[in-house]
Amino acid sequence: MDDIELTELLNELPENPGATDYRRVALNLIPYVEAKVPPMGGNQTATRLRFVTAVARHDLGLARLIEGHLDASQILKEANAPIASGKLYAVWAAGGPSDTTAIEEPETGKEAIRITGSKPFCTGSDLVDRALVYVYPQDQLVDVDLRAPEPPEALSFQAGQWISPAFAETHTWTVRFDALRIPSARCIGAKRWYFDRPGFCLGAFAPAACWAGGAMGLVDAVRRRPLRNGHARAHLGAMVAAACSMDSILTWGAEQIDADPGNSSGTMFPTALVVRHLIERTCTEILDRFGRTLGPRPFAFEPNTARRIAELTLYIRQCHAECDLEELGAYVEQNPTFGSARP
Ligand SMILES: Cc1cc2nc3c(=O)[nH]c(=O)nc-3n(C[C@H](O)[C@H](O)[C@H](O)COP(=O)(O)OP(=O)(O)OC[C@H]3O[C@@H](n4cnc5c(N)ncnc54)[C@H](O)[C@@H]3O)c2cc1C
Repeated sequence: MDDIELTELLNELPENPGATDYRRVALNLIPYVEAKVPPMGGNQTATRLRFVTAVARHDLGLARLIEGHLDASQILKEANAPIASGKLYAVWAAGGPSDTTAIEEPETGKEAIRITGSKPFCTGSDLVDRALVYVYPQDQLVDVDLRAPEPPEALSFQAGQWISPAFAETHTWTVRFDALRIPSARCIGAKRWYFDRPGFCLGAFAPAACWAGGAMGLVDAVRRRPLRNGHARAHLGAMVAAACSMDSILTWGAEQIDADPGNSSGTMFPTALVVRHLIERTCTEILDRFGRTLGPRPFAFEPNTARRIAELTLYIRQCHAECDLEELGAYVEQNPTFGSARP
């Protein structure tokens, strides 16, 4: 994406960004996002995914924050719910045994629900202004104002559990709610709406666009150096080809989305699984080739490269690996023509 305004905005991020840098630059990107980044499924999905890739190519931590904000604003639009202008949003929907969040329904006549419990993997926990929190026992998405918790002591952050230096400054902490009061009107959609809406499948493409941008940034780091031998040149050739294939598969995914944004064919989820799988594998290949090209020095002595490698290695683990492939294979068993060039 060749856009001088975007380049200038991204260049505001210092070399080794801290948490406050991330918040500042992410907030500065919001007007650009609102003016120039098209919605998913609006016939310009490729432009949206390329924006995400461009941010990740610059910095993966910033991409993680911006991808959450884009996802949240798309969800709120789909729900016809209000979006607070100029505020940075996140989506916190991680489940599993360490997610203990639950909703206490309001007493008759009262207009607030209360959330209690811990939510892991909350990117931007104390950096974002609002978060869409998914509460599994009640299958309910809730729009939480993090700047004015009611009562104030009902919101706290458990920073110490995240021990990796990767994404450390994005504050992907566990957030603790202790009877946090939220107006009932801030429940977004009906029960399970978050998972059942067509947009859920579409949202699955954006993390893959982040992974792709992270790997493209590594390829850029090889392009910029003099190469010492033919092996290095061969790896660079293969890495550039791999980067082109990620761009192509994202464009293909975007075309599928634009052809069927309401998912009337039911194929958007398996399509997302195809795209995510191919990008995860290609990122893995680029990570491998990067190390084989340049040896241990960039891992040990170059802070930015070492951080990108650590963050990309961690980020692609979000992909659900063989669980996703099993789901894809099971879908093809039931729908044998899916993914086949022949009708
Ligand atoms: C950098 C980063 C940022 C993220 N930010 C957000 C965010 O802002 N919002 C959000 O909603 N989510 C976020 N996530 C979380 C993400 O969406 C997933 O919830 C997270 O990756 C865990 O995925 P999972 O539940 O599939 O993995 P798991 O199910 O926890 O693990 C995968 C597999 O490993 C097995 N397993 C795990 N641990 C063990 C063990 N100790 N022993 C044996 N087997 C084990 C599990 O049973 C499972 O089969 C983020 C993730 C990352 C990596």
